[in-house]
Amino acid sequence: MAKKRPAFEIAGVRVAPGSRAAINLPLPGLYTNDPVSMPVHVLHGRYEGPVVFVSAAVHGDEINGVEIIRRLLRLPQMKRLRGTLLAVPIVNVFGFHNRSRYLPDRRDLNRMFPGSMSGSMAGRLGHVFMTEIVARSDVGIDLHTAAVHRDNWPQIRADISDPVLVHLAKAFGAPVLLHSAAPPGSLRGAAAGNGIPVMVFEAGEALRFQEVSIQVGLRGVVNVLRALSMLPRSKGKPSKPSAILRSSSWVRAPQSGILRAHVGLGDLVEKGEVLAVVADPTGESEMPMPAPFGGVVIGRVNLPLVYEGEAMFHIGRTRRTALLERHIDSLQGEPGIQAPELIEELPIV
Ligand SMILES: [Zn+2]
Repeated sequence: MAKKRPAFEIAGVRVAPGSRAAINLPLPGLYTNDPVSMPVHVLHGRYEGPVVFVSAAVHGDEINGVEIIRRLLRLPQMKRLRGTLLAVPIVNVFGFHNRSRYLPDRRDLNRMFPGSMSGSMAGRLGHVFMTEIVARSDVGIDLHTAAVHRDNWPQIRADISDPVLVHLAKAFGAPVLLHSAAPPGSLRGAAAGNGIPVMVFEAGEALRFQEVSIQVGLRGVVNVLRALSMLPRSKGKPSKPSAILRSSSWVRAPQSGILRAHVGLGDLVEKGEVLAVVADPTGESEMPMPAPFGGVVIGRVNLPLVYEGEAMFHIGRTRRTALLERHIDSLQGEPGIQAPELIEELPIV
């Protein structure tokens, strides 16, 4: 029989094993003197296991992850959780209120980690997250979307040279797993610097709910909790393996103008294939945008009004076309990609 765990302590609150609590971490208040706090849901399992954080809206307008965490917290199997889950649905509370990626001081929180207690507004928020959440965790999953007017195919970004992370990043089961170094100042990079592996899930567009992205994200987080033995193994079909992308590159607009895209997210492209045409409004000066190499479209711009040099298509280098085709079929398939034990409410359309 496993031994009973001690209570989990955070922000002066003790959460008993086998219980859950909603905690508010105090943040700098509004200038109207209203208090602001970061909501944290602590699910402290009855039995020993890792501490995992799942965070969303580090960029305040990236809201698919907020919905992923809402659904995660409602799953019936969470009653059987081993270890501890720290779910933080809205990290950048200020940006979320303003429907903005940034903080009111115009800084990008995800370039300000680890932050400091006496630093800028963004730095202080980063410091709260690092000391209260990351420092208490063994592993983290940070949920993002593309920026406004952009869209990402569901993907995990992680440093797959990390032996712990590669196993968990594969277990997530996103269609693609992109090996990438963490940007300087990012939550992922700062956590890795403290020895805490963090993967980033990217899917969909800012300020939109996208059902498929939410479903892939929810299933992925559950897959990781299962791989850590925090949840019982699934009786259903396992997720397909991810296509691992060792590198990727952005194709940029060759001139300013109006973009007519010929490829979409998840499309497999060959070297030299025309991804889009950029032209002036009358179509006099058309410039094709060829794919620089063969691969899969993992990110794209949605707004067809473009400036020279703007990033248009994010292409991941891969030859795993047969595997990717299976992912594409299941993302488009009916009745959806959801594992049966996750279905519990109507999809968002
Ligand atoms: Zn983001």
